[in-house]
Amino acid sequence: MTVSYEDVVSQIKDRLDIVDVVSQYVVLKKRGANYWGICPFHDDKNPSMSVSPSKGIYKCFACGAGGDALNFLLKIQNKDFKELVAELAEKFGIELPKNTGFNSQNKELKTQMKDACKEAAKFYQKQLTLDKDSAKATSYLKQRSIGDDIVNLFTLGWAPNDYQKLYDHLKDKFSDEVLEKAGLITKTSKGNWIDRFRNRIIIPIQNEDGEFVAFGARAVDDGQNPKYLNSSDSLIYNKRKILFGLYTAKDSIKEEDAVIIMEGYFDVISTQAHGIKNCVASCGTAFTPEHVRLLSRYTKSRRIYLSFDTDSAGVMATKRGGDTIRDVFASLGNIKQFDESHMASGNENYACEIRVVSPPEGKDPDEYIRAYGADAMREHIKNAPLLIDFELNNLIKKGKDMKTPQEKSHIIQEIVPVLTEIHNKVIQGEYIKMVATALDISEPGLISEVKKLSKSGNNVFFTPNVKRIVTKNDEIAKIAQKNLLSVYLIDGNQITLPQLSEMIPTDIFTDGLLMIIKTTIDKYAASVKNVRELREKLYTEFIEAPETTQIVTELVYMADSFKGLDANDLIQAINDMKNKICRLAHAKENKELQKQYSAVNDDDIEALKIQMALRDKIKQMEI
Ligand SMILES: [Zn+2]
Repeated sequence: MTVSYEDVVSQIKDRLDIVDVVSQYVVLKKRGANYWGICPFHDDKNPSMSVSPSKGIYKCFACGAGGDALNFLLKIQNKDFKELVAELAEKFGIELPKNTGFNSQNKELKTQMKDACKEAAKFYQKQLTLDKDSAKATSYLKQRSIGDDIVNLFTLGWAPNDYQKLYDHLKDKFSDEVLEKAGLITKTSKGNWIDRFRNRIIIPIQNEDGEFVAFGARAVDDGQNPKYLNSSDSLIYNKRKILFGLYTAKDSIKEEDAVIIMEGYFDVISTQAHGIKNCVASCGTAFTPEHVRLLSRYTKSRRIYLSFDTDSAGVMATKRGGDTIRDVFASLGNIKQFDESHMASGNENYACEIRVVSPPEGKDPDEYIRAYGADAMREHIKNAPLLIDFELNNLIKKGKDMKTPQEKSHIIQEIVPVLTEIHNKVIQGEYIKMVATALDISEPGLISEVKKLSKSGNNVFFTPNVKRIVTKNDEIAKIAQKNLLSVYLIDGNQITLPQLSEMIPTDIFTDGLLMIIKTTIDKYAASVKNVRELREKLYTEFIEAPETTQIVTELVYMADSFKGLDANDLIQAINDMKNKICRLAHAKENKELQKQYSAVNDDDIEALKIQMALRDKIKQMEI
């Protein structure tokens, strides 16, 4: 039996559960029959994305993204459709049709790129002992107390100060294209291939499965710029989604149910080397929502420690990191804001717990752990304050130097938003008292500022941020057309699809995409068993047309408003909608004629004729 392309896609869809799929990337919370979460496709603050297990689809009510599970994966993994299908087929053990170009080229290319990176990592590591200049690297590592075991664990290495040493080593095994795409070589203006990393300590970057996908390279000479040279994003490396050290940290993160986020490669290397294994760092980029979601797969309690440098840039990074984490978990409920040891409050379940590990004396984690050892660091982790305490302490410290009323009002503006975030009123009152005393400001004044900000309501969860579209005439017409088209997608409809096709003419749709969807529906109307199958056909048909997929999803949701109507009522509704669409179309034509009419020059005889004709037309339409 030959398997068709459609068969494979449909078998894959059978195995994908929309809630499982979306949960891998978005924290979902059940409300009624549906799930809600923060939309990963736009900068979402409130949970605007709804996931419907019964329909098997998702939809964001703010940015409009929507589709079925396969569409979600395609969009979030940013892959070629065939490549994704090939991957999923392999995962589910579904046989692919042969000779259809189905087994994508990309997969082969990616495998080769990873192989090349692995070979390169091994090559660089060997250079630590072979290359004549390698002492530059070994002395640096020694000075950081990084021994052979750590060098082996992280496959640290040395890129010789030579233009082609790596290239010469790899060129027989890999094509130039593979080496270039993997970011290992670059082309000179003369057209020669040269090594990208030279005269640097090499820190290979592994993905969570331990595959080598990229490199960080540290300068060793004074004045050598930049200090860190990193691989650019590639087919196998997206720095927004990869965390340095995760491969070696993940077991420990699970065990400790906590993760420590650090700033640099060597912070992670030193800390893990000293036996504190549950730490990771982002690779030359700020901490992203994708990173948070990645980590939430490993720590159930979502306990995250931020351990950045103690300089002002580090404090900023801590604040930004905290905000990112909070945004991702906002839909889950309250963020832990006080310790039970201080306050008896029972066993509340928290959305997440964010703490700040900031060793004193302005040292970064790497320096600190080398100077004072792992036990001292562990002590800091044990006593790490919650983010909110850290923020308030910093602001109070800053505020203590401020004497003039202007300076004080400035610091109050910074403190009030932090105080407003505290959801427990008793604790909020205690904090306000503490801040007022520390900064020598009026407590009632501070209370009223906090109340003012709370009222402006930036803490509304679970209110989908539905943006009202400007309802101009065209928009109204489009919505009316969508409403009409959505009747095809009513679950449990008493009118059959072919009957609907007879009742709804295609030319009533003036919008191009709606017309395409309508003709596609007509194509399948007679052959599909039910609405669910029609939905699936449409999603497969439009999988590579995200705009159309989005409209189909909108229609699926619109169809809900017709659910439960009996056949007669639905026929009545369809006729009403058809009439409305015609009325709107007439009104539009009318308006255009009027516009032309008034634009014509009165003195011209020709123009007069046009005017007469237009006037007649308009009269006809007005009747
Ligand atoms: Zn969205």
